Amino acid sequence: MQFIPNEQGFFEIRLESIGGQGAYSAGQMLAEVGVSGSALHAICFADYGSEKKGAPVKTFIRFASNTMTIRNYSPVEFPQVVVVFHEQLFMTQPVTNGLDPEGILIVNTPKTPQQIKDEFNPDVKTIVTVDGISIAMGYKTKSNTAVLGAIFKVLEFLNPEYIEKSIEKMFGYKYPHLVGPNIDTFKDGMSQAQIAEFEVSTTQSRQTIETPFGYETQLLGGVIEGANSFKKNLSASREGYLPEWIESKCIHCSNCDNVCPDYCFVWEEGTDARGREAMFLKGIDYNYCKGCLKCVQVCPTSALVDMVETQGYAEAHRFEKSFPYLGGKK
Ligand code: SF4
Ligand code: SF4
Repeated sequence: MQFIPNEQGFFEIRLESIGGQGAYSAGQMLAEVGVSGSALHAICFADYGSEKKGAPVKTFIRFASNTMTIRNYSPVEFPQVVVVFHEQLFMTQPVTNGLDPEGILIVNTPKTPQQIKDEFNPDVKTIVTVDGISIAMGYKTKSNTAVLGAIFKVLEFLNPEYIEKSIEKMFGYKYPHLVGPNIDTFKDGMSQAQIAEFEVSTTQSRQTIETPFGYETQLLGGVIEGANSFKKNLSASREGYLPEWIESKCIHCSNCDNVCPDYCFVWEEGTDARGREAMFLKGIDYNYCKGCLKCVQVCPTSALVDMVETQGYAEAHRFEKSFPYLGGKK
């Protein structure tokens, strides 16, 4: 896609991600390369919501020709390009809201563009997929630079030769050992991205999905669902790894529970071998697990080990937490 500005003179991109995936860093590099390599004006800013790994983050990049000063810092509502950093976000966020049907949807997923079309039916002409997590695992990096590679593959006005400098600037000072692997991650993302084109609806209208609750319609009292991350599915923030629990090795010491930032461990009251009351670990609710693996580090008996996440494992092995005070369920 070439640099074709909208009616306001901007070319706008929205990155849909989960805190910790590095989307904001990717947005900064994208804007920087637009300025240094294509002589455009650019801004990049983000809407973080709650400052927490695992919370939804939107990053906005706005390009304009270098004869125009960008004074618009409002969120990008009608982007030409949307980039989804994990397909799980389709379940929880209206990620394609406002996307131009003639635009591009880029998804970080092992699936093909056709599979994304079949599953989520986005009304957009071009769908691009890249398996950023697998690429990043190979180089021990994050998938954000692989996703950047996919973006550069389809946005022809961005010059990929300038990305190396930008990656060096981003990582060189604090993490110089990550510069080379991130450049390789970028190159693999660019070469492995799959592109497909589809028919769009004849009306060419942009999709918008209204959220059911806003400040005027929110229910009063209690925990406000949809406005906090307490019950949110955080699986999209994992970067390819999960803790696996081996029940036979567990001594129910609760070390894992003490370090888990998202209360993923599910316990039940019971009696021990001597008939005393005790709490027993029943499993992990993977819906809330962001794969930080802190629990694996503190487990004294290796009852928790890290594993590469395979499709469907978390759903099949999830021990569901109950929230008795939220839904009356015990
Ligand atoms: S830290 Fe290990 S042994 Fe202790 S409760 Fe957790 S899984 Fe079981
Ligand atoms: S990896 Fe372990 S500590 Fe980290 S969120 Fe998942 S269950 Fe909790």
